[in-house]
Amino acid sequence: MASKHSNWPNPAEAPALDDLAKCVHCGLCVNSCPTYAVTGLEVESPRGRIYLARAVEEGRIELTAAVQGHWDLCLQCRACEAVCPSGVPYGRIMEHARAQLDTAASTGRGGRRLRKFLLRRVLARPRILAAAVTPVRWLANSPLRGIGRRTRLLRLGPALARGEAQLPRHIGKPLRAGDSLPAVLGASETAVLFTGCVMGEVFGDVHRATARVLARQGVAAIASAGQGCCGALHAHAGDLAFARELARRNIDALAGTAPAPIVVNSAGCGAAMKEYGDILSGDTAYAARAREFAARVRDFTEYAAALAEQPAASFPARVTYQDPCHLAHAQRIREQPRNLLRTIDGCDLVETPGADLCCGAAGLYSLVQPAMSAELRSRKASQFRDAAPDVIVTANPGCQLQYEAAVREAGITARVMHIAELLDEAQSAAADSS
Ligand code: SF4
Ligand code: SF4
Repeated sequence: MASKHSNWPNPAEAPALDDLAKCVHCGLCVNSCPTYAVTGLEVESPRGRIYLARAVEEGRIELTAAVQGHWDLCLQCRACEAVCPSGVPYGRIMEHARAQLDTAASTGRGGRRLRKFLLRRVLARPRILAAAVTPVRWLANSPLRGIGRRTRLLRLGPALARGEAQLPRHIGKPLRAGDSLPAVLGASETAVLFTGCVMGEVFGDVHRATARVLARQGVAAIASAGQGCCGALHAHAGDLAFARELARRNIDALAGTAPAPIVVNSAGCGAAMKEYGDILSGDTAYAARAREFAARVRDFTEYAAALAEQPAASFPARVTYQDPCHLAHAQRIREQPRNLLRTIDGCDLVETPGADLCCGAAGLYSLVQPAMSAELRSRKASQFRDAAPDVIVTANPGCQLQYEAAVREAGITARVMHIAELLDEAQSAAADSS
């Protein structure tokens, strides 16, 4: 609740004073912050951003364009939250700080309105999203893409070139809510595969790989109808009302599948869904259901690593795992993906410095903050050049796209894979050779 003297333009969604007051300004979070690492500025650090929020809360400063700019540069990677000894819920604070920006007088209002429109009217509407992705899939898979990259076609503008650089090398068939997955004979358990929005449209191959890996572990995955976008990007952009609406839709859609676990192979979605209880805590009709739903959510690596059945796998290659922020920092899952990779014959797991430092993808961040995003991507590219991996593996679609661009920037030939794809390929190779 904001104080009566605060300068929050949207007091109903203001960061909670209790959350802000937890920060004791110790600074232990500062060196884990990517934007502080790049700029060296206190106002681009977690402590600085919280200090600004507290000053707005106490009515000492206005919510100026400069203050908004410091919050906008935050990646919401939550590396600060993971190291904070006082338990400052930085992710929640920043979502509520961003919720102020739509109503604040700001030079960036046009861009914010466009983003809100796209998030609400495209991302959250499966048919419209499918129509929007169709030409993107065609471009990604077209032989004309290579020609376009070398010609003026993709030099029409930096935004177009940036978008093309981040496309996967191939976009397979979508896998959407309600699509059928192969039956698993003698399955010991059924799990709901969360299909998501972009994940289902662009990373259908990852979903199918996830289902095959789970099937080898005795789990039948179902892509239940009615589920949709998790709302993470809406919450990060400060559109908390719509994020809550999407959370309610998923809770309703998957109610009939309880108590089956909900397996999520996108770290950003999983982190958001594990927090449905938090985001809907003020909704008397949904609060308890949201907590029950959240308790069913498992990241794919968390779920697969805990299963008794670990199939034989072979993948002779030099592999580096890069932690998605919303897996390592928000869900605190670091060991399970590495443990899964260590079970694979021939897999030489090499660690790079700063594997858990944000790659700069961060949802829509690479589009709205291209300079900082490019700087963080370049740091990854340089680490990949030094480590010379055959494969870069991660567990979040946005990171995958950013690493595709980093590989091109580094001038190396490493493959970029989701961990489910790597496990699937490794298990299939072991089965073929036995
Ligand atoms: S957010 Fe946590 S770690 Fe950072 S300054 Fe505040 S109390 Fe210290
Ligand atoms: S969320 Fe990430 S970018 Fe934002 S302040 Fe925390 S560490 Fe820095």
